[in-house]
Amino acid sequence: MEIQTETIVTYPVMEAFYTLQGEGAHTGRAAYFIRLGGCDVGCVWCDVKDSWDAEKHPKHSVEDIVNGALQYPGRLIVITGGEPLMHDLGPLTNALHANGFTINIETSGAHPLSGQLDWICLSPKKFKAPLPSVVPYADELKVVIFNKSDFDWAEAFAAQVNPSCKLYLQPEWDKREQMTPLIIDYIHNNPKWGLSLQTHKYIGVP
Ligand code: SF4
Repeated sequence: MEIQTETIVTYPVMEAFYTLQGEGAHTGRAAYFIRLGGCDVGCVWCDVKDSWDAEKHPKHSVEDIVNGALQYPGRLIVITGGEPLMHDLGPLTNALHANGFTINIETSGAHPLSGQLDWICLSPKKFKAPLPSVVPYADELKVVIFNKSDFDWAEAFAAQVNPSCKLYLQPEWDKREQMTPLIIDYIHNNPKWGLSLQTHKYIGVP
């Protein structure tokens, strides 16, 4: 008789926490963040460099991750990283949906899409560009402005996304004093864009 063994799917979780989404189209909404370890994009200004090495982070089963999210009343999940699409998100997103969650993702788009995602926030990075196969699926394009040349980078992707995709420019945190006035001017002249701020950092929540 063949013995059936159940494979337990795990993911490296750097941290998971209930907070308010600070950025982009869902700013201000209560959400449970799942920050997966692993990123090969290498942004020089990355504020979560500890996430890069997936091996540094404990592996959690899908069941444990879902149970963590179920402790809170909110039913919005934000899967972030790291670069969460380095993992096959199928098992995790199936289990979250089965438990009534809506799933947003924050991704650089540098790896193929996987899983069932309700909202894709694409934040393209010059250090490893998004895959062309990901760009048309973005619900939200959020471009971090670190220097003036990033406006052209932002426009290059705005030309590729779906027409219904929401467009945001966001100052890199350490450059916010120099870049925010430039972004405001830019949006005045190019009103298809909106301003995204890292409001969680202003209000002191994770
Ligand atoms: Fe950091 Fe995100 Fe860039 Fe990866 S894609 S290096 S996690 S900012």
